[in-house]
Amino acid sequence: MDKKHKKKLKRAAKKKKDKAQSKQQQEHVKKQMNMFDRLPESCDACGKKFPKTREAHMSWRVTVRNKEQTVSLFCPDCTNKTKEFLENNNEV
Ligand SMILES: [Zn+2]
Repeated sequence: MDKKHKKKLKRAAKKKKDKAQSKQQQEHVKKQMNMFDRLPESCDACGKKFPKTREAHMSWRVTVRNKEQTVSLFCPDCTNKTKEFLENNNEV
């Protein structure tokens, strides 16, 4: 086997691996999209409307109860309040 041929085989193997990885990634995205389909339109606690922006996706808290497949959504304010509440409770 000459060197050139070897290189070619190596590249083919890598391509196969890349393909498998991207398929896995697609499945992951698909799953996440399904989750966002079930996303409530507003905060579960105060009812503030969820702005469908990338920033909001990063700052709002989404909790999923996998058993019931229900998605709860909390705005940053309520997330902080819950956190404070929990922290205060821990202190008592
Ligand atoms: Zn809220």
